[in-house]
Amino acid sequence: MSAGRAPRVGGGGVVGFVFLSRKRKGVAKNKKNGIVAHMRLPKAIRMFGRNWRVELVKDLKCEQGRPLYGQCCYTSDTIKLEKDAPTEAQRADTLVHEIMHNVFYQCGCKLTHSQESSVATAVFTILRENPKLVSFITEA
Ligand SMILES: [Zn+2]
Repeated sequence: MSAGRAPRVGGGGVVGFVFLSRKRKGVAKNKKNGIVAHMRLPKAIRMFGRNWRVELVKDLKCEQGRPLYGQCCYTSDTIKLEKDAPTEAQRADTLVHEIMHNVFYQCGCKLTHSQESSVATAVFTILRENPKLVSFITEA
């Protein structure tokens, strides 16, 4: 899975995730009855003792006007996600990407965007491919 190649946007503590034109297949289905369901995007995420808002924004763009899948705003504790992302999987990938930007920022890690993106993709993939791990972590 390719990650975004977004540069840091401005110096105001905002990091974006460049919109990818490639669409991915994938539909969320309820395993019991096969009904297509919308995944529940959390409206808030608790990180580093603060409540971060998660907002869906139509036509999300960076300060230079380029379309984005997501944006991490450190000054307002907000993660913005493109409302019209091609799939929920793409939105989930982007959410983890933006969360990891905050993790690196809060921990003072000085990585390039490409390095942060690679770690984010690795975390996303591990979580996605190991639902029993996620259950163990959340239910332990
Ligand atoms: Zn990014």
